[in-house]
Parts: sequence; structure tokens; C-alpha cells
Amino acid sequence: MRTDWTNNHFWKTNGWIIVASCFVIMFAMIFQESLYGIFEEHNYVSIHIIMESIIITSAFTIATQAWLMFPHVLSNYRLWLGALFFSIGILEVFHMLSYKGMPFFLSESSPYKATWFYMITRLTQGAGLLIIILSEERRVGPKWRWFAYGAASLYALIWSVIIFYPNHLLPELVIDGVGTTLLKNSLQYTAIFIQLVCIFFLVRKLKVKANQTLHIMLLVASVYLIIGDSMFTSYRSVYDITNFLGHLFQLAGFYFLMRAFYHTSVEEPFQKQKEAQEQLAYMAYHDELTKLPNGRYFTEKLENAVMYDHEKRHALLLLDIDRFKNINESLGHAFGDLVLQSVAERLRHTLPSAIFLGRMGGDEFTILFKSIKNEDEVTALCRQIQEVMEEPFQIQHLLLKVTLNIGIAIYPEDGNNSVELLKHTHIAMAEAQREVMRYKFYHSSMDQQFLERLVLEQDLHQALANQELFVVYQPQVDLRTGEMLALEALIRWNHPKKGLISPGQFIPIAEETGLIIPIGEWVLREACRQLKEWHDSGIPSIGVSVNLSTKQFFQQNLVDTIENILHETELSPQYLELEITESMTMDVKNATAILRDLKELGVRIAVDDFGTGYSSLNYLKELPIDRLKIDRSFVMDIGVNNREAAIISLIVSIAIHLNIEVIAEGVENIEQLQYLQMQKCHQVQGYYFSPPITADKLVDKLVEFQERNSTNPTVIVTR
Ligand code: C2E
Ligand code: MG
Ligand code: MG
Repeated sequence: MRTDWTNNHFWKTNGWIIVASCFVIMFAMIFQESLYGIFEEHNYVSIHIIMESIIITSAFTIATQAWLMFPHVLSNYRLWLGALFFSIGILEVFHMLSYKGMPFFLSESSPYKATWFYMITRLTQGAGLLIIILSEERRVGPKWRWFAYGAASLYALIWSVIIFYPNHLLPELVIDGVGTTLLKNSLQYTAIFIQLVCIFFLVRKLKVKANQTLHIMLLVASVYLIIGDSMFTSYRSVYDITNFLGHLFQLAGFYFLMRAFYHTSVEEPFQKQKEAQEQLAYMAYHDELTKLPNGRYFTEKLENAVMYDHEKRHALLLLDIDRFKNINESLGHAFGDLVLQSVAERLRHTLPSAIFLGRMGGDEFTILFKSIKNEDEVTALCRQIQEVMEEPFQIQHLLLKVTLNIGIAIYPEDGNNSVELLKHTHIAMAEAQREVMRYKFYHSSMDQQFLERLVLEQDLHQALANQELFVVYQPQVDLRTGEMLALEALIRWNHPKKGLISPGQFIPIAEETGLIIPIGEWVLREACRQLKEWHDSGIPSIGVSVNLSTKQFFQQNLVDTIENILHETELSPQYLELEITESMTMDVKNATAILRDLKELGVRIAVDDFGTGYSSLNYLKELPIDRLKIDRSFVMDIGVNNREAAIISLIVSIAIHLNIEVIAEGVENIEQLQYLQMQKCHQVQGYYFSPPITADKLVDKLVEFQERNSTNPTVIVTR
């Protein structure tokens, strides 16, 4: 809540009134006798009119505010308060008009009428306020406004008829020159008592933090009204200073009642509306997930820079998270969101405040680096970003390494408006993925490549139907027997115009577009069919490994699809191996469930490119894995880099330890082969034996292998 009971804005703005009133009371008490009649009769009437006018204005202000606000809030609280003060306003008018010394009215003015009007007003106000304080706030229909105010008018009119009735229907309350009667004082004490009950409940309500300002104001108003009441019990005639002070305190009480109501019906709703508007404006310009400026905000900022600082150079950077789709697909969107939040947080902390960071949507972040002196400044920033990204993110139970690709476009060289600049950062970003440092400045020559990729994407849609895709097979050799044990099925695309296109180029496109699902299924069917054909033609029982992409792995009906293919092609499941990657196993629970189902079919599971992914050795013992494939990058470094060679040795020993088979990919020369043999790696695959070859050539290769093995079965290191 905005208000604090001890240190609050209210006391600061209203404290002086309270202090001043204390002085007034003291002053009046001390000089009561000497102040008697200080305002002469004619002056006193005017003073009374002024004070009453303020009280009446306060009452009608509350009533009007409530009347106007009610349709918006439809709260019983407001309605009753409004109606209550409407009747009080009317009664106060009659009180003022019938006051002793007033020049005119229906009948002669007298203390009888004025005092009765005052007394009824006072009791109505006290009791009404108490009822309102005690009632629960709830919604009421709009038609009740007329009813409530109508009833309030009627109530006031009934009292005026009774009081104005020529024969006094009610007993006297004040005897002029003598003072207040017992009845008057009793009624006044009743009012005090009611007001004290009000205070009691208000103090209780103050403990509940809600609506504090309202309750404090009502409390202060009550105190003033009580002081006023006590003054009204002790005057001899209206010229007594206590009568004047009674009015003054009643006035102060009404002032605070008005403030209280003003606060709840005008200030507070206005404040809330303002906050809501601010919130709305914030939401329109910020991303909900990361709280960073969103695309709209960023684009406006960029456009402003281009428009108002057009003589300067500005750098626009577009950053995306490498393989974010994989993270989302394998670990779920909630996890993906956490990654985005963590990356946003780290970027926010890294970047100087003068550099504007935003989130474009998805896994894309944008940076506006204004008024750059040269490209080196931007390069330094990119390096700094990549450096802070080196440290892995701890997200839930996973330690995740996040790589960012950064595309850069410079204003004005690379575009003179936000659309063009953003487009060019996208193009540069696609290129950045192929860079070691993962950032790239846009260059016009990139447009062509980008366009080519778009065309490729279009063509890929037809490739399957046009039978442009085919499968090649690469032998996998067992180092213990020298036999060709299995084959890896690798897809190829024979583009009608561009010729052979490598999977490294089109598999990412297929994954992005979702085409990988039908394409992957086709490869599986084709490989199984081919293998069965070979088996049937008398070729010894070799196996086939087929690569699965992340999308395929998490596809709903993967197990059914594979089961159907095995059924259709009549291939025994033990000959089919599915290659998954480490990243697919990050969500161990989910991955285990999928792998168990696959294992139930009887197929084998291998982990491809082992050692390059989200290395967590934990999952190895939990997942039903048959084979590890040591990534080519490690094999490549044998004889060059001892560290990489040591990793191979480690992977082999882990595999042996866990009773899993291990195969090394990308074996190109005899040194690599010998090293792997020395490490007791089970199998190898690579150009040293054979590149991936078409099905018809493979048969010859197989024969070649068989012949060599039969002549010299122990020496397998010669081709
Ligand atoms: P991968 O599964 O790790 O396949 C091994 C890659 O290494 C193949 O590249 C292969 O031709 C290459 N390779 C094998 N031996 C050597 C060697 O001695 N030296 C060198 N430099 N390279 C060697 P390819 O065929 O270009 O495939 C690249 C990647 O594309 C594959 O990596 C795999 O991830 C993906 N891929 C290929 N076919 C399919 C497919 O049918 N489905 C899916 N989802 N992905 C596929
Ligand atoms: Mg593979
Ligand atoms: Mg591989």
C-alpha cells in the first residue's frame, strides 16, 4: 500500500491543521470567558453563514462525486456515502437558513429549528458513517443511484416538515441565554459515542493495510467531529466562543470527510488508472519474457537514430542463439524461455548503458550502438559479448553452453532505413554461423548467397517428389576382425541445376521448414529396403545406421513410423541403428522414455558426434545406448593435438567401462587408424576405407573387403 501508518504523506500535508487546531482548543479553553460575545450578533450570523457554506459545500461535493463516480464503480460503499451526504447537505441548508438571526425563512428563525436540524444532521452523519464503515463493499446495480438519493431527499424532507411544523412537535434543545438542555446534551453525547465506535472500528481497519489513507482521514475527521460535539454541549448561547469553535471543528471534520471521499473516489482511481496506463505503455514497448525493449520499441529507436542523427554512423547488431530450436524441441519451451531470460540478463549486465539492447522476438536480440567511430569499436563489442557467453549457463539442473551468432549492419553504408538495416543484419547473421568468432559484418556480396538459400528452400519442397534425393552408404569397419560390419546411410541431393548438394547445406533448411520429417522417413525406408535387398541377395548380414534429426526424434509417432517401415521392408530390427545426438538427450527423462520405446522395437541406438554437444556424462549410464560415435573433429587432431587425442582415449575407456561399443568417424589416414587401434577403439569409419558411396558401388566394395579379409584377415590397416 502507498500509505504507511507512521510515516505517511498524509501527516506531512495535514499535520499543520491538526497542530493548529490543538492550539485553538487550548486558546479557547483558557480565554473562554473573555471571548464571550467577541463576534457581535450581526457579525456572528455572517460568520455562521460562511462556516455553514463550507460544510454544505463539503457535503454536496461528496454527494456529487459519489453520484458521478458511482456508474464506474457500482460500489454500495460509495452510493451510501453519497446519499448520506446528500441528505446531510439538505439538512445543513435548513440549519443555516433557520439559524438565529437569519433574516428570512418560512417562519421566524429560532434556536429550536436550527439546533434540531443540527442535531438530526449530526446523528444521521455519525450513524450513517458507522453503518458504512461496518458494511462490506460489494457491487450494486446502477439503478440504485436514483433510489438511494431519492430516499436521502425524502428523509431530509420528512425531518424538515417535522421541524418546520408551526407547533413545536419536538422538545426544546437550547434555552436561549440559559444553555443546552439535558436532551440536547444526551443527544450530543450519543453522537460522540457513535463517533467513538467509528474510531474503534477505523483503528481496527487500519491494521489491515488496505485503504489506509481513507481510514486515517476518516479517523481524523471523527476526532474533529467529537471535539466539535463536546464544544456544542457547553455553550450558553450562540455567541459563546465554544459554539463558534464547535462549528469550526465540525467544519474541519467535514473537510476531512470530503478529503477522505475525494481520495477514494478521485485520487485513488485516478492513480490506479495512471498506473494501468503506464503498465499498458510498458507492455506495448517491452517484451514480457525478458523485460527488454521489444521489436516496436527497438525499431522506433533505430528510426529515430537514423532520422535525427543521420550525419553519424550507427551499428545495428542482430544476435541469435545457435541451435535454439534444438533446445526448444528437446527440452521444451519453458526451458527455452529460461534460456532466453538468462541470455537477456547476461547481455543486459555486459553492455554499457549507452548501448540499446532489445529483443526482436524468438531467439533474436538486437543491439543499437550509436555514433560509432569505426568498425573496431563494434568488433570489440562483439568479442566482449562472445567472451561473456563463454561461461556456461546453469539452467535448472543443466549446465548449458550458449553460442550467439551476430550479424552487423552499419548505417548509412548498409542501409538508410530500419527495414533495410535489419534485413542486412539477418543476412550477415546467417553468415556468422560459419565464422569461428561467430560475428560478421554485412557485405553486399552476401545478398546473393542469401537469395540462393531462399531458392534452395523453395527447391527442397519439390526434391522428394522429383526423386532428386538419394542415399549413399559409408562402410563401418570393425578393427578387431577387419570386417565391414555396418554402413551409415547418408542423404544426398542431386539438384537439377546446381548438381550435388551436401546435407550440411540442406539438412538445416529441412529442419527449419519441417521438411525433415518426410525426408527423414524416406531415408529410413530407403535404407531399410536397400539393406533387406542386400541381405536377400546373399550379402552377409551387415547393419545400417540412419541419422535422426531433433525434430524427428521428438515427433509424436516416431516409434510407430519405424515399426511400420520395419514391417513393410521386412528388415529384422537388430540391423537398424538410429543415430541421435547428445543434445537430444538433455531432457534425460523424456529421452529415456523415447529411447526405451525404440529399444523395445529391437533397434540399436548410437550417439553421433559424441563429445561436441552438451557434454554431460551423467546420461550415458541412464540411457539405453549401444554405441558412441567419436566426432570427426577429435580424430582429425590425432598426431596434431595431444589434448584431442587424450579425449579420444578417455571416450574409448568410458565406453569400454560402460560396456558400450565405440566407433571413430572421419578416419582419413594410417596414423589415425593406428592410434585408434592402440586405444582399443572398436570400429572406424572414414575416407581411409571409403567415402560414402552409392548402393551399386557398395556391392563391389563389399566384395573387395571380403577378398582382402580372406587373404590376410589380421592386417586390416591396408586398403
Ligand atoms: P554425420 O552423421 O556425422 O555423418 C558423417 C559425416 O562425415 C558425413 O558427411 C560423411 O560424409 C563425413 N565423413 C565420413 N568420413 C569422413 C572422412 O574421413 N573425412 C571427412 N572429412 N568427412 C568424412 P555428410 O554426408 O556430408 O553428412 C553431414 C551430416 O549431415 C551428417 O553428419 C548428418 O548429421 C547429416 N545427415 C546426413 N544424412 C542425413 C540424413 O539422412 N538425415 C539426417 N537427419 N541427417 C543427415
Ligand atoms: Mg551420423
Ligand atoms: Mg557424426
